[in-house]
Amino acid sequence: MSSLSLRRSSRLVSSAVNTTTKGAQASYTRADLDGTLRPRKRARVDNRATSSIAYADPEDVADSLSPLTSSGEELSPVLRKKSRQRKTAEPLEPKPEEFSPRATSLWKIGPHVSSAGGVENTIVNAASVGATAFALFLKSQRQWAAPDLKPESVAAFKERMKSFGYSPAHILPHGNYLVNLGNPDDEKRKKSYQCFIDDLKRCELLGLHLYNFHPGSTVGQTTPEASLALIADCINRAHQETENVVIVLENMAGAGNILGARFSELGSVIRLVKEKSRVGVCLDTCHLFVAGYDIRTKEGWDATLAEFEREIGLEYLRGMHLNDSKAPLGSKKDRHANIGLGELKLSTFAHILSDPRTQDLPLILETPAFDAPGTNWRTGGMDVWRSEVAVLHRLAGGSSATQGRGETAGLDTGTEDYLATWTRELADRVGAASKMRSAKGSKLDDKGKSVKKRRKGEVTKEVGEDESEEHRCSDDEAKI
Ligand SMILES: [Zn+2]
Ligand SMILES: [Zn+2]
Repeated sequence: MSSLSLRRSSRLVSSAVNTTTKGAQASYTRADLDGTLRPRKRARVDNRATSSIAYADPEDVADSLSPLTSSGEELSPVLRKKSRQRKTAEPLEPKPEEFSPRATSLWKIGPHVSSAGGVENTIVNAASVGATAFALFLKSQRQWAAPDLKPESVAAFKERMKSFGYSPAHILPHGNYLVNLGNPDDEKRKKSYQCFIDDLKRCELLGLHLYNFHPGSTVGQTTPEASLALIADCINRAHQETENVVIVLENMAGAGNILGARFSELGSVIRLVKEKSRVGVCLDTCHLFVAGYDIRTKEGWDATLAEFEREIGLEYLRGMHLNDSKAPLGSKKDRHANIGLGELKLSTFAHILSDPRTQDLPLILETPAFDAPGTNWRTGGMDVWRSEVAVLHRLAGGSSATQGRGETAGLDTGTEDYLATWTRELADRVGAASKMRSAKGSKLDDKGKSVKKRRKGEVTKEVGEDESEEHRCSDDEAKI
């Protein structure tokens, strides 16, 4: 029995409940538009009752599920007994061949996926949306301390990296939001540094080579120059305490006392770093734009990279965050929009993804997913990311979906038609996901349990929770 489909009893009514039933095996179905495989919802919907939905406790769900064979027939009593025993067993290892082949583009694209349930799940989350690159948090992004990574999670992560064929060169872990290496207060900076080093060691434990973080803030207590020197000092110390991880500074939107919105600031940190081969920069398209770099035209993009070359050096470009922007040029407001649906529009990503200088870098989406927090490959969802990844791969000209149909890099003919069609495709997908979320998503927590309402600023408890909430970097958060 390779997989079980699970049928919901009549008192359970929604396919959207994110059950965490142990032992249940997700099965796959072909997705509609882009031909990717994704996990089928493990519970079937009783459409007659969806209007009076009450989200059930996952344990209740588990108890009331009745096992079916893959052909949909009820299991014999003997098999039924066996499947009960399986409830306590580990879920079967997902097989890479059950996922759609990924694009073979030279541009590596994918979202910041959830680590809920274990860091090894990031790999299947990424594969299930067709990602050729991805980002993750190594521990809860809003807490100072976290339990160590479990040895079995580390082993599973490494195993899946191999079996799913991902390269560490295309994985860009994201640092903790609380860390501020530029804080002039010694005690507070020390606390940040401990958290930072802990993350770097997690990278090395997982065999990852890149680590992206927000440079920091003066907190209004010192000059930018002094703060930037403190950041460089922390990086130098961190290099001595670790083996090979490359520390990647992110460009920021530039609100308040936040450092790193201008290339000159990032360049001045890098000039103070001793081990130059282990430092780099990640460019966030939304942050670039709201910081005043107008990348909407090819000329503007080229001028931006020319300044990058002057102030930093293109050899330091180690990754990008591909986000559209809800806020206008120069506004310093960090509000990520879905690809093609913000101020940047799809045309911006078309020229970025036909520029050879962005090849072979992790190009990460931090766009709103509209799914319940912690949504992952087991629970389905992530449709918006799946569409964004597919469209961006088409722009990069390497998607199997576009090969042989004349839709190659550069989009020579009818470019605007393609961009308009694909923008509509994205808008439709976002519209559907957003509708679904307002109908029920906000009432679910990451375990699928019914909650009254998620309180703003609520402290998160584990890695993965809160990750699919709208991504806002820390520009708006108090730096301590
Ligand atoms: Zn941001
Ligand atoms: Zn960031």
